[in-house]
Amino acid sequence: MPDTMHAAVYYGAHDIRVEEVPVPRPAPGEALVRVLRSGICGTDASEWVAGPKTFPVLHRHPNSGHQGPLILGHEFVGEVVEADPDSEFTAGDLVATGAGIWCGTCRRCKEGRTNQCATYTTLGLNVDGGMAEYARVPSKTLRRLPVGLSVDHAGLAQPLAVGIHAARRSSARDGDNVVVIGAGAIGSFVLAGLKHLADVDVTVVDFPGKRLDRATRLGARRTLTPSEDLGAEIIEALGGKKPDVVIEASGAPGQLVSALTMVADGGRVLAVGIPKEKPELDVHSLVFREITLETTLAHVCDTDLPAALDILNSGPLGSELAEAPVGLADLPAALDRLSTGKVEGKVLIDPAIR
Ligand SMILES: [Zn+2]
Ligand SMILES: [Zn+2]
Repeated sequence: MPDTMHAAVYYGAHDIRVEEVPVPRPAPGEALVRVLRSGICGTDASEWVAGPKTFPVLHRHPNSGHQGPLILGHEFVGEVVEADPDSEFTAGDLVATGAGIWCGTCRRCKEGRTNQCATYTTLGLNVDGGMAEYARVPSKTLRRLPVGLSVDHAGLAQPLAVGIHAARRSSARDGDNVVVIGAGAIGSFVLAGLKHLADVDVTVVDFPGKRLDRATRLGARRTLTPSEDLGAEIIEALGGKKPDVVIEASGAPGQLVSALTMVADGGRVLAVGIPKEKPELDVHSLVFREITLETTLAHVCDTDLPAALDILNSGPLGSELAEAPVGLADLPAALDRLSTGKVEGKVLIDPAIR
């Protein structure tokens, strides 16, 4: 085991440095993981552009204890090199990690909503993460990879878990007509989650291009492109009905409002993640039409991460989304591509690439 390692350390907007830092020492209850792939998240791209002030709640979390520079990365897979003796893991196990650390004893944790833990802490946002050669990770956030699943595909497990959690939060049921706005990586993960959870008829909306072809291969019944008449086109495609559920997964300005307009009276709208702009909602219309507006954030490790590994192991999602891995030094260029919408799938870092 070396004493030092290379890590991508976040300092602020447009300031990420690959530094040689000490290899972390796992605390009791933690494993030391040699990182094999580490995904770049839209959150990383937002903070690359605008600095951590974009997400003050995450960065000023009372449990954070880390206000200075920290190692990025909350979507990673690797090999256990030092296992916690009280855990189910042994050295050599290939594992995926969830992003968040929860206490297990607070009210929401006891309800199984560990992503709403009173002291929720996120790897790579509040504490050092996995964009490095090694990372220390609580054993309870780790899951073994299914035999035969490649690390390139397994590297999508955490963001896919977020998509599965979103699909659960939408309460889509068998027979529902669901519209997903956005066919990028997040929309694709939500689509995969929906198809995994229920027998739903999914319409995906995005600009024309390869993304829509991919959505069809991932199980969308039909795809549509944005237009003035989109609402009417959806009603026509659904045989005269408005959709039961609309999921806004693009983050683009105006789309949450358009989702609320599009959905059937008495229907449900899910806002995935944090919109780039504060939406102006017509609350009166929501009340008269009895629209349920749900939100979703992150994932529940115990339920969503195993489901993500199942989906990746049994379907085309990994080969559809995973792009060729790049090295730590390529991270700024990859963040530029991601923040300007030039990435179709998911970019993973392989820390072994120099
Ligand atoms: Zn993420
Ligand atoms: Zn808790």
